[in-house]
Amino acid sequence: MSTVHNLGFPRVGARRELKFWLESYWKGEIAADELLNHARILREKHWLLQRGAGVERVPVGDAALYDHVLDALVLVGALPKRFGLDAASLDLKGYFTLARGDATHHAMEMTKWFDTNYHYLVPEWRADTAFFANPARLVAEVREARALGVAAKPVLVGPLTLLWLGKAKDGSAPLELAPRLAEAYAGVLDALAAEGVDWVQIDEPILALDLPAEWLAAFAPVYQTLAEAKVKLLLATYFGGVADKRELIAALPVAGVHLDLVRAPEQLDAFLPGWPANRVLSAGVIDGRNVWRADLSAALGQLEAARATLGDALWIAPSCSLLHSPLDVAQETELDVELKSWLAFAVQKLNELKLLKRGVVHGRGDIANELSASDFVQQSRRNSPRVHRPEVAARLASLAPGADRRDSAYPARAAKQAAWLKLPLLPTTTIGSFPQTAAIRAARAAFRRGELAEADYQAAMREEIALAVREQEALGIDVLVHGEAERNDMVEYFGEQLTGYLFTRHGWVQSYGSRCVKPPVIYGDVARPHPMTVAWSAYAQSLTDKPMKGMLTGPVTMLQWSFVRDDAPRSLVCKQLALALNDEVLDLEAAGIRVIQIDEPALREGLPLKRADWDAYLAWAGEAFRLSSAGVDDATQIHTHMCYSEFNDILPAIAALDADVITIETSRSDMELLSAFADFAYPNEIGPGVYDIHSPRIPAEEEIERLLAKALAVIPARRLWVNPDCGLKTRGWPEVKAALANMMAVTRRLREKL
Ligand code: GLN
Ligand code: ZN
Repeated sequence: MSTVHNLGFPRVGARRELKFWLESYWKGEIAADELLNHARILREKHWLLQRGAGVERVPVGDAALYDHVLDALVLVGALPKRFGLDAASLDLKGYFTLARGDATHHAMEMTKWFDTNYHYLVPEWRADTAFFANPARLVAEVREARALGVAAKPVLVGPLTLLWLGKAKDGSAPLELAPRLAEAYAGVLDALAAEGVDWVQIDEPILALDLPAEWLAAFAPVYQTLAEAKVKLLLATYFGGVADKRELIAALPVAGVHLDLVRAPEQLDAFLPGWPANRVLSAGVIDGRNVWRADLSAALGQLEAARATLGDALWIAPSCSLLHSPLDVAQETELDVELKSWLAFAVQKLNELKLLKRGVVHGRGDIANELSASDFVQQSRRNSPRVHRPEVAARLASLAPGADRRDSAYPARAAKQAAWLKLPLLPTTTIGSFPQTAAIRAARAAFRRGELAEADYQAAMREEIALAVREQEALGIDVLVHGEAERNDMVEYFGEQLTGYLFTRHGWVQSYGSRCVKPPVIYGDVARPHPMTVAWSAYAQSLTDKPMKGMLTGPVTMLQWSFVRDDAPRSLVCKQLALALNDEVLDLEAAGIRVIQIDEPALREGLPLKRADWDAYLAWAGEAFRLSSAGVDDATQIHTHMCYSEFNDILPAIAALDADVITIETSRSDMELLSAFADFAYPNEIGPGVYDIHSPRIPAEEEIERLLAKALAVIPARRLWVNPDCGLKTRGWPEVKAALANMMAVTRRLREKL
């Protein structure tokens, strides 16, 4: 019989329980035992829930307290040396010190897990990194699961993925650690075998990347070492196709392979012919990365084809771990019923797997009702006037070639902008937000609960805007912002005012540690029925003679930080967003806002996993940005802003956005990033962040001066702006005023010297 299994499950709980327990523990409100006890009860509940939903092999070991990559390091005894901690005797305090740092250690670095919004802790490698099998915790969890009668399938981050994701701290080559790391993994597998575990899932998502030849060559020897243990290995690949590595994968001594058939359905055809008899092939047919109810008929079609070749060696699974999916649609009691009927979160996805198994084993007739319900959902999405707005499609279709271009090239625009802006050398500005104080958040919450009348809320936000304007004028900043007091979140604020967006109450997804995000869902054609920011910006402009900068979130970031409909290409959704934003840009301009910033902090993270797909992405993403900013007068100055990313490899694409001014985060990299812009001869104006806004520390004038001197060494003064790294919403007013005062003092001094 084909087996239904799951690759991983959301960890934080239906109401983010784990988040709140973690935070209570960190604040010292609950003891370690209490936290561990809560976490145990939660993971047991999740195991039973999965079993109840029909999962026949339940993932165990994936329910990390903070991060599964950190757990993998503990499992093989490879903690970063600088902490002086021993994995074998690691307690909770030590575990969280690794994750969050303490007075004497900075935390392990964090970065995004492939192309998800989950952040893992980056392993730190040295030539002398030692490994040992440290399976106690995993073994204990396996016993715990079995005591509940749950068929436990331990899940491990694979050794080569673990190595790849880390950084060498001493210039050594991490791959050289592979043989010793493999020994430690074999030790872990031996311990699991001794427990009577039969199957172990071992995740090697790096197989979906472009891997250098020496990394590919490492798979055979590493897996030879692992194969010595008496367990069956299920090698899990996901987030992309691995057909290009079929020969390599088929030759590995593993008992099964998992394929992501959502991201890369075509790879099934590459794997089926000649697949070794009795070797399991796990078909990931339910989307673990998105929120839509599956098209069961289509998924069943894939499974039927696979089963004809594989028989019972076909396993059925989600495309990847459900970590990236919210937990349970049933909690969304306030959502419109039709929209809700289109959604499936983790719990619903497991149910879909169970149905698919019945369908593939007993025939379509066995799930006839469910199939017609699924077909009905597909049809209702296909035909719904809520999804399809003919005017949006018509507008996109009628875009003239070059519609994404400004009237003139940058030099001509710059002259016209300079003529009215009359900015001094080294113009100063900020990135958009000013402190989101407790009072602002309280007013918004009261307004949402209906306890504060709309007019009173508006008045309160106007007060905040007026305050921000006064403070900026007092500081002497040149291009002002209104401060974004009225915005809950830079994506949600816009999504709530656009068509085609829905919002959940409990659709949280873990971002890192206790942090979760609740991405909005784009279900239909996007349009902008009404101006979104014009009244606020116009009010702010009315308070000052200085130029007021309008502030919008760009189309790529709106796309990237949402769950996106799966019935249209992302490029198309992005262009719809761009046109909606362009309406806003033109309305802002008409209202007298002639400096407009369109934030794109997520441009880089949208890059596809495989290099071969980069150009196509950058082409449509760039076009979308330009579309959003097109049609304005040459004299209107378009800014963009990007943060937390390395841009070196996409500089041509950033230049192609053709923003008049770009502000970027650079202070934490000591302006290193800026040199890349200089080497590339970035043509337009640029504002490298001169201080780190992530820390409450007030930057000294000397530090800012040093960074600006570095910037002036590589960028001509007439193209250089002065600004912080990013928005100031997470800071308090006293810090903000002091930091900006220092920034202004340095700028004034420098202007005199230039
Ligand atoms: N304008 C936004 C702000 O200032 C930009 C935030 C971001 O780049 N992440 O908060
Ligand atoms: Zn930023």
